[in-house]
Amino acid sequence: MVVVMKFGGSSVADGERILNVAKLVSAQKGKKVVVVSAMSGVTDSLIKIAKSVVDLPNSVVEREVDLFCRELAMRQRKTIMTAVTNKSARGKILSQSLELIDKLRVALLGVGYLEDLSPKSLDYIQSFGERLNILVMSGALNSIGVKSTPFTGSDAGLITDSCFGRARPIHQKSKKRVNEVLSPVLKDVVPVVAGFIGADEKGSITTLGRGGSDYTASLFGRYLEADEVQIWTDVDGILSTDPRLVPEAKLISEISYAEAMDLAYFGAKVIHSKMIEPAMVMNIPVRVLNTFKPTCKGTLIVRKQKKVDHVIKAVAVAKDVVIMNLEGVGMMETPNIAGQLFSALGEANINILMISGSSESNLSFVVSESDLSKSMQHLEEKFSKDILKSVSVIRDISIITIVGAGMHGTKGIAAKVFTTVAEAEVNIIMIAQGSSELNISFVVESKDIAAVVAAIHDKFIK
Ligand code: ADP
Ligand code: ASP
Ligand code: MG
Repeated sequence: MVVVMKFGGSSVADGERILNVAKLVSAQKGKKVVVVSAMSGVTDSLIKIAKSVVDLPNSVVEREVDLFCRELAMRQRKTIMTAVTNKSARGKILSQSLELIDKLRVALLGVGYLEDLSPKSLDYIQSFGERLNILVMSGALNSIGVKSTPFTGSDAGLITDSCFGRARPIHQKSKKRVNEVLSPVLKDVVPVVAGFIGADEKGSITTLGRGGSDYTASLFGRYLEADEVQIWTDVDGILSTDPRLVPEAKLISEISYAEAMDLAYFGAKVIHSKMIEPAMVMNIPVRVLNTFKPTCKGTLIVRKQKKVDHVIKAVAVAKDVVIMNLEGVGMMETPNIAGQLFSALGEANINILMISGSSESNLSFVVSESDLSKSMQHLEEKFSKDILKSVSVIRDISIITIVGAGMHGTKGIAAKVFTTVAEAEVNIIMIAQGSSELNISFVVESKDIAAVVAAIHDKFIK
């Protein structure tokens, strides 16, 4: 039996928590692979410093970078002192950590002095959070008598394309490499693999996108043909909505791959939407569990859930998105304009979350706010003003998605949902329903999120 156990940022936020995780790993039977995220807040802080040094005057770059690296080294040291109880191992892990932080320092200085932060440099800088953490996690396991070795994603064999910031794995090569590297050691050693990062074929470090450690776990599950992938996090499992919005959100004990994917895709960040596919391909069950309440049964994600308690199972919210409205008479005269527009955006690796086409001269769609300027630039480059007259943007909106396999074939459900939204006195800006009838999505102003989610939860789930 092979189990992949992934621990997220809050599960490994400090030395005590890492030690707690080491005990959970030790208690798990069979062969196991551990995947870890960076300690909570570290990836955010790496992105922040990388972006800020670009704009700093050269005279202060070194001071700011040194300050950042010193603080990171202090946190790392403190974590090692608690998590690595074997005193003789501490020195080596500390010096390996300081070596890494020195490399990070050089990269940040380069970015600051050259005033240039490419997606490739940003991936390199972001990788340090996970690279530092595998050293501590593996040290903690060794300290409690579980033989362990740290691996970065690429050391362990994860090979990706060179799409920095949103890299895609090259499955065949990765599978071969992962099995060459990990299969021989699994019998005696627990590999601790850095989530979120891989490397392209030239060896440059790539990242899989924010929250991508979940994806790493299911990719390794797929390559190693694991029996189970476990996502250990800071809530009891997948809940009927984000407990930060509705504290009484309910635990979903079982959910299908398709429903879980929809929920994650539309904002339920408890799992990364891309993580479902590798598990689904191999039919590997995924369990979402609470690191702080390991006896709680969590959520089981499988191909077909056994029973449906509610027609609507959960509500997800995708924030930080914008609507792009495209208008132009030329659009009507251009055959397959929608196809051309979407493939242009696809080429630029821009994800379209929702589409609403009212006529051929007017097309609206939703993208992440972070993709907005790239989308604008790409559309301007590809389409002349004769075809695409104007692009307007609606900001401060969010997508609300309700998910449930029970909606399939249930008459009047959309009407009931929209009546509930109207009763909450909220205006709907855009609507879409997935053809699988597993979900209904609609866009509202972000200020209305709390009211809408509470009303829907109250009516359909409570
Ligand atoms: P990790 O660091 O373990 O990867 P994340 O912060 O990425 O954890 O995801 C866990 C968080 O996801 C929870 O703390 C919760 O606020 C949020 N969340 C959003 N939607 C849901 C949902 N439907 N069920 C459970 N948690 C959710
Ligand atoms: N550390 C990365 C992030 O914060 C990956 C992850 O946590 O899954 O996005
Ligand atoms: Mg996460």
